[in-house]
Amino acid sequence: MAMDKILVSACIIGRPVRFNETDNLVEHPLMEKWRNEGRLVPLCPEVTAGFSTPRAPAEIEPGSLGSEVLDGIAGVFEDNGTEVSKEFILGAELALETAQKAGCQFALLTDGSPSCGSTYQYSGKFDMGTREGDGVVAALLARNGIQVFSEDRIEQLEAALAEN
Ligand code: SF4
Repeated sequence: MAMDKILVSACIIGRPVRFNETDNLVEHPLMEKWRNEGRLVPLCPEVTAGFSTPRAPAEIEPGSLGSEVLDGIAGVFEDNGTEVSKEFILGAELALETAQKAGCQFALLTDGSPSCGSTYQYSGKFDMGTREGDGVVAALLARNGIQVFSEDRIEQLEAALAEN
């Protein structure tokens, strides 16, 4: 049986693609193992959608989450007020397409991002406040049956891979 592939946020493998040109490198023996097994499919949805790095920080509007952005009833905004919902939805669609083409049933995504976040989001007011909920990419992957794990749940992802 083919090994399950894992869609992984590019910043998790150390690419400095976050809005402020930083990475979110996760150094963990499992990352090394999965890399050696050829499981990792890295992608930055925002860069893939055409954003440059660095770019303005963006948050999902207060009180709403990724699935509402996908449904067109909430928006993603940069801190200067520019709406970037269409670009974020495009990034999610491209991430889903990449995951499906590569046969990924799992994703390991950076938490807190309006794209990749899965357990928490920033408030939408650019005040560093947080709330529970997922981003646009995590919501679209989950809708399509791909199990999403944050970087803090790497051991749970290993357990899910073993069960699959
Ligand atoms: S969109 Fe995802 S992969 Fe790209 S920098 Fe943000 S968290 Fe990392």
